[in-house]
Order: sequence, then structure tokens, then C-alpha cells
Amino acid sequence: METLVSLCKRRGFIFQSSEIYGGINGFFDYGPLGAELKRNIRDCWWSDMVRRRDDIVGIETSIIMHPRVWEASGHVAGFTDPLVDCKASKQRFRADQLFFSPVVVDARTVGYVSALESERTAEELQEAAEAFKRKKSIQGKLAPVRVRDMTEALAEEIALIPSPATGEPGSLTAPRSFNMMFQTNVGALTDASSVSYLRPETAQGMFADFKAVVDTGRVKLPFGIAQIGKAFRNEITPRNFIFRSREFEQMEIEYFIHEDADWAKCHREWIDSCKDWLVSIGLPAGRLSEYNHPKEKLAFYSKGTTDIMFRYPFGVQELWGIAARGDYDLKQHEKLSGVPQVIFDEATKKKFVPHVIEPSVGVDRIFLALLCAAYAEEDVKDDKGGVERRTVLRLSPRVAPVKVAVLPLLKNKPELVARAQALYRKLKHGYAVFYDESGAIGRRYRRQDEIGTPWCATIDFDTIEKDGTFTLRERDSMAQVRIGEAELFALLAEKVY
Ligand code: ATP
Repeated sequence: METLVSLCKRRGFIFQSSEIYGGINGFFDYGPLGAELKRNIRDCWWSDMVRRRDDIVGIETSIIMHPRVWEASGHVAGFTDPLVDCKASKQRFRADQLFFSPVVVDARTVGYVSALESERTAEELQEAAEAFKRKKSIQGKLAPVRVRDMTEALAEEIALIPSPATGEPGSLTAPRSFNMMFQTNVGALTDASSVSYLRPETAQGMFADFKAVVDTGRVKLPFGIAQIGKAFRNEITPRNFIFRSREFEQMEIEYFIHEDADWAKCHREWIDSCKDWLVSIGLPAGRLSEYNHPKEKLAFYSKGTTDIMFRYPFGVQELWGIAARGDYDLKQHEKLSGVPQVIFDEATKKKFVPHVIEPSVGVDRIFLALLCAAYAEEDVKDDKGGVERRTVLRLSPRVAPVKVAVLPLLKNKPELVARAQALYRKLKHGYAVFYDESGAIGRRYRRQDEIGTPWCATIDFDTIEKDGTFTLRERDSMAQVRIGEAELFALLAEKVY
């Protein structure tokens, strides 16, 4: 992760927000290359999920909505994470990410140890238990740790569990619910009547506009409403770079189906098509897996939720949630707004509230997954036959921020420069391209490898003196072929879609 974070900063993919003021935790900016990559993710998704399908329409709803929306959705009452305070350090922890274990020696509890969630939580707790026993010079046989999180701590245990901030017990509070919605006030008055929220998900926009789309969009079941947009959550512990931030972007679909439809089949089809889509933009299928939420942990209205997981460097984590939500959301809005959220069934001549399957994914999490999967360092032959190390981002041409770099072999030959500039201008109409004339050609290739540019077109003397062809160098194989303009445009049309 450290290597990736530093590459992101060095090459202008991602910056800490407001860095000149010391940064603000949980907020990020996308630099010139990051903005391109992110836009490509959104564009691929919109093309594949909305434009290329007959059954999905796209909308864009406002970030601040009527506060009653969030009452109907359950967010005002229940969009909470369990929070634990450390009274000594003033730090806050998510209770379900703070783990502890009793230290048991010869079947007797002699103290407690704690650790924050990581890839090695159990090992860290075991090491802490051994250290505790050593420090207190306790003789006897240490039992293996029993890992629990703070939401499972008994009242009498809380005072005995050390704070991860200080290492000492006595300062942690019992978990309490913390609502993650950002509040604001709409209008000049800042009293209770003007309270509103930055949306914590884009989904409610689709539900709130369901009637408007049905009445105007000529849609027929099954159909989906899709949206891409920012969402905000006051996460207690933003972490793992852009994986969990406080301002992020979601791409969500509410796919409405008949109340009697086979929801399990539809749910399965969505899981498969979301996975296929991730592979189509370059994520290796081998790093994806599925996690089915256990029945007992589902909300009462939920029929089933499956997460597509990705193996990040910090562990296997949720990338895309696909939830079968029944008719809960529309019914809630019907109840609170008084406006029927029904659709007319031509076959049975009956009106009913449709059910919904909701695939919901974070753009930033896809961004990070793509970088993690694409990053490689390898030894390659240099121009002189020696070995050099190169960093390469093996990004799919669909999402790569720059598709082609155009390089004149030498910058002090006006004919080469003019020809390269002409090609660059032509390509620029349709694609993100980069022009680079400075430095040795090998070094210029390396610079493009590092930002994931799939192809470099080098204009040399043969280009101007012979048939106009140039050298096209492919990033991953580093193979070089001579091709002409028409072939390059054909290649781009095939690979960048
Ligand atoms: P988590 O359990 O990781 O907090 P969640 O189950 O609360 O996620 P959902 O409410 O299902 O997430 O949101 C849908 C998607 O939005 C997630 O699969 C994820 O890709 C993205 N997402 C959610 N929270 C964040 C966040 N804080 N930062 C970045 N992306 C997020």
C-alpha cells in the first residue's frame, strides 16, 4: 500500500485533500491522471449498465433531499456505527473494529489485551497476551486468545480492556450508536426545522423519483434506474487510503422486478453480471470472491445480500454489495409521503409495489482495486543488454488514463516533431493522449509504463522518409511493431470501448 500511495502522489493520481493546511482526514482529491482514470470507470459503467441496455435508465438526483426521505429510509434512526471513546486520549474507535481477549493463564483470567482490526489481529492479540504474561512475571500455561470485538464485551469487562491508544485499561467507554450522516441546515434559520443531511447513499434518489420515472420514462418491468454520484458518511475511522473515506462516489442501480418474480434468480444474474463487468475493466477474476451475509445478520426486510469481495493488500474486503431488498423502500416512501408507489400490471390488471435488487458499488473502491491489481515491478532488459527494474501499471486500455503517448524520436528535428504533433492532435479528438519529447526514448517508455499507458507511438526518420508508419510499442510485452495511422485508430476502436 505504501508503494501505491506514493506512486499515486508522485504521478498525480491522488492527493490528500487540503494538504497545504495539513490535510483533512477521510477526504481525497484526484489529480490529473486520477481524474481521467476515475472518469473512465464511470464512463465504462454508464455505457455498459445504462446506454447499452434496453432495461435501465439513468438519472441524477440532488445530494441534499427532503429530510423525510432519510426518515423513510431508516437512516435517521438507524444509520449508525457502534462507537467507543477513549476518555484518556480522546480518540474514537469503531467498536466492531476494536478486538480484545482475556489473558488466561492456568484457566484463570489475569488481564485483558486489545488490538485494532488488521490482517493479523489474532496474532497481535496472542503476542500481546504473551508480552502481558512476561511483563507481569506470571507463571503457568497461557491459553490461546479468544478474539471478540467490543460490541461483544460484557459490561464488567469494559473497564478491564486496555485502550489501543494508551495501552492502559479504564478509559474505554461502552459502545454507543453514532449516526454517520453529515447534518447541515437549509436556508437562513439554523433550528431543528431546517436540519437536512448530505446523502449517505445515492439509492434513495432512485426510490424518491420512482414515480416520476414510471410516469415519464415509458419503462416496463423489469427495469432499472441507475445513478452515479457523491455520497457522504462521517466514518468513525476512515482508513486504507481511498477504501473508506468520508466523501466518496457510488454507482448504484435499483432494478425493479414483479412482486411474484423469481428474485433469487435475478439476484444471482446481477452478481454474475457485476463480476463479469469488473473483469471487463481489468480486475483478475482470481482476486474476486463472494460473501453471503448470514440470514441472522440481515435487516428484517432483506431477502439476501451478497458482496463481491476483492483481495486488497490489507485483506479481502467488500467492493460491491448486491442486495435483494423486497418492496421495503418503496413501501416506506409510500407510507411517509402518502403517494402510492405502484405500477400497473397489464396482465393481471392489478396495481402493486415492485420489489428491487440493488447492486451498489463505490467508484473509489474500484479505483483502488484496479491500481492494486495493475501494479507490478519487474526486471527487464535495457537498451544496452543489461537488466533494469521497471514499474508498470497493467491497466486495461478501457480505464487507462492515457491511451497513447506520441513520441518524436528526437526533439531537435523539426520534421519529426511536426509529424508527431500532427498525429497527437488527430488522436486527441477521440482519446486521452500524451505528447512527450524530452529525454531518451527508453526513459520516456518507462514514464508511460508507470502511469499505465498501453501504447507508445514513436515517430522516427522512416516515418517521414518512407511510408508514414511508426513504431507502436505495447506496454506489457514491450513488443514493437510498425503500423500506420489507420491501424492505430482501428486498434483503439477495438480496445477502448
Ligand atoms: P462497509 O461495510 O465497508 O462500510 P457498507 O456495507 O456500509 O460498506 P454499502 O452501504 O453497501 O456499504 O455501500 C455500497 C458501496 O459503497 C460499498 O460496497 C462500497 O463500494 C461503497 N462504500 C461504502 N462506504 C464507503 C466509504 N466510506 N468509502 C468508500 N466507499 C464506500
